[in-house]
Amino acid sequence: MADEREQPVRRVLVVVAHPDDVDFGSAGTIATWTDAGLEVSYCIVTDGDAGGVDPEVPRSAIGVIRQDEQRKAAAILGVTDVEFLGYPDGRLMVSFELRRDITRVIRRTRPDRMVVPFPHRDLQSVYSSHPDHQAAGEAALCAVYPDARNPFAHPELLAEEGLEAHTVPEVWVMGAHDRADHYVDITDTFDRKIAALRAHASQTAHMTTLEKRMRGWGSLQAQAAGLPAGRLAEGYLVLDTR
Ligand SMILES: [Zn+2]
Repeated sequence: MADEREQPVRRVLVVVAHPDDVDFGSAGTIATWTDAGLEVSYCIVTDGDAGGVDPEVPRSAIGVIRQDEQRKAAAILGVTDVEFLGYPDGRLMVSFELRRDITRVIRRTRPDRMVVPFPHRDLQSVYSSHPDHQAAGEAALCAVYPDARNPFAHPELLAEEGLEAHTVPEVWVMGAHDRADHYVDITDTFDRKIAALRAHASQTAHMTTLEKRMRGWGSLQAQAAGLPAGRLAEGYLVLDTR
């Protein structure tokens, strides 16, 4: 579907729950897009302040550390526009306020494509069904339709901030597993994906098998995509939201 569009895609907005979500799910894809000249913005809904594995680091410091790590990881992939909405990690709900805050970012960045987390629980895999991910995915889809395109939704955004309605024409859903219908070959950007993941040192420094795990996961997706042996991929369910 993405290839049939009449207008070229120039701007992409990624909405995820935590610092590091975009890098685990999509860093290889993002690097192919910035290499091709696309402008990519990140909207990170929480500060990841329930993350980190080192009990010596005060909890109050984690949010700042993780924001800094996410900015470094973004820079490795050529992304400089990184916005944090500041919601508390581990307690995310699909609230009207969250929909409004994501709508604000959509109207500011005016993307041709969005990347969002899978909004439903996968009963086969408890680890891939973090409640914050589902909430961020659902709230982002509510912001895509109807909120961002309806000038009468969240009227203060237009009245007080001058943010005009915007229709996002396509959405790529990460973590869609067997629902994925579109794959990006990330073999040539895989090294940058690993570098971006290592930038999240508070989350990944202790992972001795990070590269091996990511390579295994990328090859499974490449197989699902029908790519030749040795290739790596990231998969998405692509939605037509025009
Ligand atoms: Zn996460």
